[in-house]
Amino acid sequence: MEKPEKLIVDGKRLDGRMPDELRSLRIEAGVLKRADGSAYVELGENKVLAAVYGPREMHPRHDQQPDTAVLRCRYNMAPFSVEDRKRPGPDRRSVEISKVIREALEPVLFLKLYPRSVIDVFIEILQADAGTRTAGINAASVALADAGIPMRDLVSAVAVGKVEDTIVLDLTKEEDQLGTTDMPIAIVPRKQLVTLLQMDGHLTEDEFKRALDLGFRGCAQIYEVQRQALREKYGVKEE
Ligand code: UDP
Repeated sequence: MEKPEKLIVDGKRLDGRMPDELRSLRIEAGVLKRADGSAYVELGENKVLAAVYGPREMHPRHDQQPDTAVLRCRYNMAPFSVEDRKRPGPDRRSVEISKVIREALEPVLFLKLYPRSVIDVFIEILQADAGTRTAGINAASVALADAGIPMRDLVSAVAVGKVEDTIVLDLTKEEDQLGTTDMPIAIVPRKQLVTLLQMDGHLTEDEFKRALDLGFRGCAQIYEVQRQALREKYGVKEE
């Protein structure tokens, strides 16, 4: 990637956005016929599919838990999703991301309702431009709701960070790679509960607070689009 001289010019980012602006976001619920629940998310150049199967009997049976269902998440990048072909199959990064996505989603599910069962969430990254783990969480939570699985709330997620000296919302790959800090977060909006917070880089305490606040505001916008996608699928009238 050729390094641009500046990532922020006259207060605007290279793609024309203000620091507190999300990329264009589109969410559609129920896009896959054979999944119990599914969703498609486009966030800027990211294209992400989530498919949910279950709750169903856990196989292999020795992984069954007698008093609860198990949430299994698999984050996978298609070989053609990135500039340099991604070698197919799991790697350290996708194993880590699958784990943090599971932990981000678990708190909203009533897993105890389904002993010995499993809920499978498959997240497929078709095109990547930074923020795929958070786009994956947004897709997965709509797909879980589309599957009719009881949930306390949706989970909304976005990355915030620091580019040059500016705190920004929803970093592009260029900003992620050439900026100073990338901090993906996921929240349960109605409880204002943080279920994912990672940080690559450094922030001062004041910057961290401003970044978190910006992330919460970004998640509130995403939450509305997620709810709208479900309303459209299920024909629920605007409140
Ligand atoms: N990326 C890539 N090849 C890889 C992994 C990542 O080109 O093998 C790119 C991809 O665009 C991804 C971005 O780097 O979205 C940032 O990756 P990161 O690990 O920060 O996760 P993300 O921001 O996607 O959650």
